[in-house]
Amino acid sequence: MKVPFLDYRAVNEPFFEEESAAVRRVMESGWYILGREVEAFEAEYAVFVGAKHCIGCANGLDALILCLEGYKALGIVARGDEVIVPSNTYIASILAISRAGLMPILVEPDLNTYELNPARIEAAITAKTRAILPVHLYGQCADMTKINKIARDHRLKVIEDGAQSHGATHFGVHSGALGDAAGHSFYPGKNLGAVGGDAGCVTTNDDDLAKVIRALRNYGSDYKYHFEYQGYNSRLDEIQAAMMRVKLQHLDETNARRQQVAAHYLDGIKNPKIILPQTGEGNQHVYHIFAIRSSQRDALQNFLKENGVGTMIHYPIPPHKQPAYCEWNNLSYPISEKIHAEELSLPMSPAMTDEETEYVIEQCNRW
Ligand SMILES: *Cc1c(COP(=O)(O)O)cnc(C)c1O
Repeated sequence: MKVPFLDYRAVNEPFFEEESAAVRRVMESGWYILGREVEAFEAEYAVFVGAKHCIGCANGLDALILCLEGYKALGIVARGDEVIVPSNTYIASILAISRAGLMPILVEPDLNTYELNPARIEAAITAKTRAILPVHLYGQCADMTKINKIARDHRLKVIEDGAQSHGATHFGVHSGALGDAAGHSFYPGKNLGAVGGDAGCVTTNDDDLAKVIRALRNYGSDYKYHFEYQGYNSRLDEIQAAMMRVKLQHLDETNARRQQVAAHYLDGIKNPKIILPQTGEGNQHVYHIFAIRSSQRDALQNFLKENGVGTMIHYPIPPHKQPAYCEWNNLSYPISEKIHAEELSLPMSPAMTDEETEYVIEQCNRW
């Protein structure tokens, strides 16, 4: 038997008919940029998240940059200010801070949940700190109860990186409505993914920020041929918006299927050499990634590969060891380094069958 890590086609196939009709609708409309589909998707995703505003943009990295640039335009953040971010995230969370001319300050995660550890945040706050950028890594929310409290005490903004957590909740509140603003990615592999392209959005309850970001994504234009800011071209495509409207309707259902697969794994994998993922207090995990850990990770990955099970490592090299951030290469973040050395992602998708899940469990237990 062969179980791929992720079969994009199988994930999307149930929606081919509806998505084709949506694409056709865009072609027929004759309005090809920032039209009715983007407006409708923004309205529908805002309702889903429980946020007042949703502003579509080109991708998840841009969404985070737009949040930070928005706060800069409003005079809340200035070039050189510091933003706290987890040391074990995907590089985009950190790049967004650098790209906005701000200083990323890395803080270690909790080894049990892999989420930013609130107990370590206060020690990293300085007179220049303006924001915390928690990442809801692998599909569950960071400890937003504690993070929001620290942010309130120190008057910091909280910008969620919700790229991996569409539909996840923390004490009943959706990812994207837990902080002051949130960036979302609809890269095809995410829980809510575009098809054949990139997409992203910002959600926020802040009217002023929403207004600025709406202008910034479109050259800084507040009304036609009038430019209030030096903005970007970072718009959400009509076609992607139309297709994601279809998939948004099925997001709860596809997340529920991921949760079933995860429940199978959690129940079935019994191998003392494998550490299973834990869910933080108050969290509904949507398992973007099913992250296990083993001190013999590479051997396990090879064993699974030989037996037809595809896996991935999220992520093999921590951000502070990347050539792109050579100024950090000699710094030590032992918890992140441990996670990066031991993490392995098992196959996870709403398209997985019970037989495939059983097979993965069997192979993990046989190892
Ligand atoms: C995917 C991802 C991003 C970037 O999203 P893109 O749409 O690929 O630009 C940012 N942060 C995290 C945690 C991600 O997983």
